[in-house]
Amino acid sequence: MISSKQVHQAQHPQNLKIIPLGGLGEVGRNMTLLEYNGAILIMDVGFRMPEEDMPGIDYIIPNSEYLKNKQKNIEGVIFTHGHYDHIGAVPYLIKDIWTPGLPIFASPLTKGIILKRQEEFPEQPKLKIEEVKDGSKIKLGPFGIEFFSQNHNIPDNLGFFIETPIGNIINTSDFKFDENPINDKPTDFRKLEEFSKRGVLLLMSDSTGAEQEGHSLSEQDISQNLEEIFQKSKGRIISATFASLINRIQQIITLSEKYNRKVVIEGYSMKSNIEITRELGYLKVGKGTIISSKEMDSYPDSRITIICTGAQGEGSAVLMRITQKEHPRVQLRKTDDIILSSSVIPGNERTVQILKDDILRQGAKVFHYKMMDIHAGGHAQIEELKLMIGIMKPFFFMPIHGQYSMLIANSQLAEEMGVAKENIIVAENGQIIELSKDKFSIDKKGVDSSYIMVDGVGIGDVGEVVLRDRHVLAKDGMFVIVAIIDRMTGRVKGSPDIISRGFVYLKESKDLLKETRKKVITIVNHSVGSGGVVNWVYVKDEIRDKIGQFLFSKTKRRPMILPVVIEV
Ligand SMILES: [Zn+2]
Repeated sequence: MISSKQVHQAQHPQNLKIIPLGGLGEVGRNMTLLEYNGAILIMDVGFRMPEEDMPGIDYIIPNSEYLKNKQKNIEGVIFTHGHYDHIGAVPYLIKDIWTPGLPIFASPLTKGIILKRQEEFPEQPKLKIEEVKDGSKIKLGPFGIEFFSQNHNIPDNLGFFIETPIGNIINTSDFKFDENPINDKPTDFRKLEEFSKRGVLLLMSDSTGAEQEGHSLSEQDISQNLEEIFQKSKGRIISATFASLINRIQQIITLSEKYNRKVVIEGYSMKSNIEITRELGYLKVGKGTIISSKEMDSYPDSRITIICTGAQGEGSAVLMRITQKEHPRVQLRKTDDIILSSSVIPGNERTVQILKDDILRQGAKVFHYKMMDIHAGGHAQIEELKLMIGIMKPFFFMPIHGQYSMLIANSQLAEEMGVAKENIIVAENGQIIELSKDKFSIDKKGVDSSYIMVDGVGIGDVGEVVLRDRHVLAKDGMFVIVAIIDRMTGRVKGSPDIISRGFVYLKESKDLLKETRKKVITIVNHSVGSGGVVNWVYVKDEIRDKIGQFLFSKTKRRPMILPVVIEV
């Protein structure tokens, strides 16, 4: 028997909803939902690095507000590859999406990296991740998914061909076309053609390289560029890169072996990624190649390579600690050759510049991608992106992964390649795109996609207010006033204490402090009034406002003022 509801649906087929929770208008934090008739498929759960003006923030993760209380609607989670901008938010968001038996699918390497990281979060549920590879087919609710290999700068990267009730969708993942990949097979164009023959309603394509002319470098070309450095170097080679840039790590290890160098691995995430990729056979390392940093001194510098984290100038990463002379075992030497082997994430340019200057000032050499093509190069550039669109001939095109200008550049490529302008979907995080067989609309109100910031173990507890405080503290410091007040008389006892950090040098500002103390006494005595109940909040506000104005008039600075009133 057919219920009236089903008849209704047959007559009015549902639209497919696409809800990007991150990754649009930014590099990183990739997470997109497909929703049909209430059934939700999650593609990737990534994080991004903080911007330069977010002191103390470790990561920014997608906002999962929309998924609250929808756990039972989630059909499954599928992952493209093991980069943190695609898997990094798993430990922070899993509590919002997990139910026992939640189907999760990833390639063996991606699974290995996710599970290895979960070991740092022992209180979390044990995730069961099923392995998929090139050609695997699964069904999750209304979605039929076929996984296909895509070249990138990490092995085991998968694109998705998704059959939905309204048509087929391709998600390219991060990709490039590479004829000579590392530890991977070259792009299978026949397979891509075959998807195209089945009809592609929507192509969701990586935009990271959409503003770069030509073709991305093959991993083989990058190896050759790196080899030039190995040929010339007479001291240690220190190669900083992302812990998840497995191909680059492989290249550095292979070259070290060729040039008779031992390899020292520094940095927690680097060590754990190398361990897992080695275990799974994705990283080929000869016996005895890797040594501990303690053994380093028994070899001449010309026989040592150090692979570490920190190519983006991340404050806590190994390279930063080395250049700041804070690393316990590695001190920078004039003969060192430093390779910064990953492209700079938008927003980190200044930090990387400072890092480079710092290294050069200490006399070491720096090799960066602007001098040589040794950067990530993991993303399809203009010619490859056009080729992808040309092969898929999609009805709709949606640029994903990248700053807004990259999305626009990619959408222009689609137009050039013959996709109708009105079928190109340039969206932003949190918008809801409703797609039918022949048209789409965007609900711009959409869902909450505001930043969730992770600071240490805190998730989302650092918001705009905390961040603003950190800016004030960083800019003009703080100024604490401790006033002891006699409950009986309402008068300040003795002289208020002043503690200040990052505002003025106290010893040289005796007069200013003396005047401040006097003012505090006057303010308290005035605002306490005589008799009756004292409004201490008002007293504190008065101190904050008036002392703030006073300090500004004297110094043109606005420190954060913290009045502490103690009644005795
Ligand atoms: Zn990637």
